[in-house]
Amino acid sequence: MTDIAIEKVNDYDIEKVKSSLIKMFDLTAFPTVEGKRVLIKPNILSDVPKEKAITTNPVIVEALIDILKDKGALDILVGDSPGLQSPTFSAKTSGIRGVIERKGVRFEDFAKNNRPHTIYKKIKVPMAKALDEVDVVISVAKFKTHQLMMQTGAVKNMFGLVPGLNKSPLHLKCPSVEEFARLIVSIFKESHTDYAIIDAIMGMEGAGPANGTPRKVGLLISSADAFAADYAEAVIMGYEKKDMPIFLEGEKEGLTDESTYNYPLLTAKELVISDFKRIEAKKKSLFSALILPFFSRYFEMRKAKRRKAPDFQDNCVKCHRCIDICPAKALSMGSRHPEIDTKACIRCYCCHEMCPVDAIKITQ
Ligand code: SF4
Ligand code: SF4
Repeated sequence: MTDIAIEKVNDYDIEKVKSSLIKMFDLTAFPTVEGKRVLIKPNILSDVPKEKAITTNPVIVEALIDILKDKGALDILVGDSPGLQSPTFSAKTSGIRGVIERKGVRFEDFAKNNRPHTIYKKIKVPMAKALDEVDVVISVAKFKTHQLMMQTGAVKNMFGLVPGLNKSPLHLKCPSVEEFARLIVSIFKESHTDYAIIDAIMGMEGAGPANGTPRKVGLLISSADAFAADYAEAVIMGYEKKDMPIFLEGEKEGLTDESTYNYPLLTAKELVISDFKRIEAKKKSLFSALILPFFSRYFEMRKAKRRKAPDFQDNCVKCHRCIDICPAKALSMGSRHPEIDTKACIRCYCCHEMCPVDAIKITQ
């Protein structure tokens, strides 16, 4: 039996969040933390104010730290590394650093402390050194859409263990949705995540994970199986299983089993948000579903290029972030906004994720 706890929580009142999490942990095989070192991995995609609903709300992190301390955790680390990380990354604007300092736990900047891991396709990639120092790993994700993977969640959140600019070139190595999902799953496996929490009190719909619209969902989701927590998230968003590439890869690898899912509190199906603005999954042709997987990188790249290229708008403030992160070097600054070489672009949407003013549109 895989338990998934879903609880209605209307706002970020710390006491309400804490009591809900305690109740949820009691029902979902929360790991023993007494005398152990624990890593909390919130989503700090970019260090921006919590009201934007891009990052895990600091109240969730604070409530979790309090609970871990009450349960006798020996040491607590909180860390992340945004995709385009400034040398002064502090997690201050998101409010998470304030919680870390107030609670006297350790802040881990993964860009400063990491070591190479060998993952999918024998790719060598640096990952947070903190993983070697802790006994328990907890993913604390945000309820958000994602242009490429349809949803962000507890499994995808662990991509942040790969520091800063080391992330975007991985899109070049794994350009299709399926391959990139496989890569995310292999990074997740390396993380040995023990427990997953999804902050869905305020979520994000539309052009997630960075340029969507905050949406009140009023829920917390948790499970010892991160894929199961993500499954519940996706169902609430209105997705079907075929639209969940990361989940499908996890299931293929035997990391989760939907037939064992049990909801001791609310069920995902009763909470589906009918008007939630999802990213529409591209329909698969029979050819792409059955034949393409047997071919090589050439077809993977062709498959990626069938997605729409990003479209740059005049509200661009020429910050260069998209140009700096583009793994295909497909962007150069034009007179009003970046110009795109659509032949070089692999449709990874890293640029869209990094734009601070929503000047990059992806039409599905
Ligand atoms: S232009 Fe954007 S979508 Fe295209 S490869 Fe560069 S970062 Fe990816
Ligand atoms: S499109 Fe966005 S990320 Fe790119 S230069 Fe303009 S404002 Fe910056």
